[in-house]
Parts: sequence; structure tokens; C-alpha cells
Amino acid sequence: MTRPETHRGACLCGGVVFEVDAPLRPVTTCHCTQCRKQSGHFWAATSVPHDRFRLIRDTGLRWFHASDSARRGHCGQCGAFLFWEPAGEARISFAAGALEGTTGLTIAERWFTEDGGDYDPEANAPPQGLPERLPASCLCGDCRFDLPAPAGPVTACHCLQCRVLSGHFSASFDADPNSLRWQSRLSERVFTTPGGASRGFCATCGSKLWFRAADGRFSVEAGVVDGPTGGRLARHIHVASMGDYYTIGDGLPQHAKDASDA
Ligand SMILES: [Zn+2]
Ligand SMILES: [Zn+2]
Ligand SMILES: [Zn+2]
Repeated sequence: MTRPETHRGACLCGGVVFEVDAPLRPVTTCHCTQCRKQSGHFWAATSVPHDRFRLIRDTGLRWFHASDSARRGHCGQCGAFLFWEPAGEARISFAAGALEGTTGLTIAERWFTEDGGDYDPEANAPPQGLPERLPASCLCGDCRFDLPAPAGPVTACHCLQCRVLSGHFSASFDADPNSLRWQSRLSERVFTTPGGASRGFCATCGSKLWFRAADGRFSVEAGVVDGPTGGRLARHIHVASMGDYYTIGDGLPQHAKDASDA
């Protein structure tokens, strides 16, 4: 008998590593509010039965029960949103963006697009009025802030770090960090990347909050805003690093690396 094809996945800091044996279910994207907050945009996941899933390292793994029907797993050290496990079913879903190398997968379905962000051309958010300040919160409520409306242009980043942390790719808009009014930073945790950037996330629920580039530029994860942002996705960066399981079909400008190249 030949050994089944094995895929390896990991968070950014190495605190969570897993292996799965093929075949993997085609990828579904989920735009629901819970996935939006944890990923910072929307989540892309594939799935296997439990008997084809192995946790190799779990020192960073934290589970969050957003409801009775499922639990959600992230790395409490770097914030990567990795797992979704339904109660009473012998299967687990995991982030397509966390898989190493070639996946050979494609996106087959899009779920809850009506709950997606108003900035997201792949969602189908109903029109809503914009408040004076945008309320933002993590999934568990331990981290809450607001900031001036509207959000500016939203940048999608497909770099390896954003892929692994969000589970797919990130979406964020520039903001003045001093314009954020924090109501709670109870479980806020900061992960500093090897390149000197830092990323704020909620260590309890794994929601993505903000990003500070090594040069100091600050941005807010679009998915953490509770309601409409007034912003719109404007460009894709680091598409040279994007996963093999999706394509970009929105016609927006794409940059191989950062926004300064063509
Ligand atoms: Zn980690
Ligand atoms: Zn939280
Ligand atoms: Zn990135």
C-alpha cells in the first residue's frame, strides 16, 4: 500500500504544527462574523476526518468556544487562526493559508457572504448607514475600540505572514494609532515578527486587531470593525506569495511585492 500524500501546516511562530493526509476537501471561504473577526477578513478552510489529522505540536494552541456547535483554534503566541471543529462530528477544518507548499486545492463554495465586510468585493453586504466612529471588537469582547469613520482604502496582503496568521489573506486600512479610543485591551497580545513588524491580536479568541509595519505605519484589520467601514478594497500586495488554491478576480491592481512595484 502506498503512503497517502501528507500535507503539513503550521502557525507563524511554530507553536502549533499539524499534518493531514489527503484527500482534502475542496476549500470553502466563510465570511461569517466569527470568521471575519478571527481572520481579520474572511477565512478559507479545507477539512479532513479526525483519523487523517495529527497535531504534531500544540504548545501554542488555544481553543475558543464561540458557540455550543463548534470550537475554534488559534495560536495564542502569534495569533494564527488555524482550526474550526464542529461538535459531535469526527472531522476538523483547518486554514488553507496555513498549509505549506502546493495544496492542489481550489475554492468550491463561499459561505455567509451576506455577513461579510462592506469593504469586501467577494462579500454581499447589505448597505448600511455609517456611524461617526467605527466600533470594533474581537470575538470574545476582551478587546474593544472605536476609530473615526470612514475607513480609507483597504489593502489586501497575500504575504506568507498574512496568509498564515489570517488563514487566507489579510485586509487592512491605514489609521492614526492615536485616533483609536480603546474601551478594553484585556487580552490584547502583540506578536513581533522577525522583520520587526508587530501585530496585535486577542490572545483569548484569536481575533486580529492591528498591524504596525517595521517603518511605523499603522493599520487596522478591516474584519475587526463591527459594522460597515465605509472603506473599499483597493489593491492587492505581495501576490507573488499567494496560495495556489485561489485566484484574484476583482480586477483591482495587483503588486508582486509591496505597493511600490508594478
Ligand atoms: Zn504561533
Ligand atoms: Zn477576544
Ligand atoms: Zn502581509
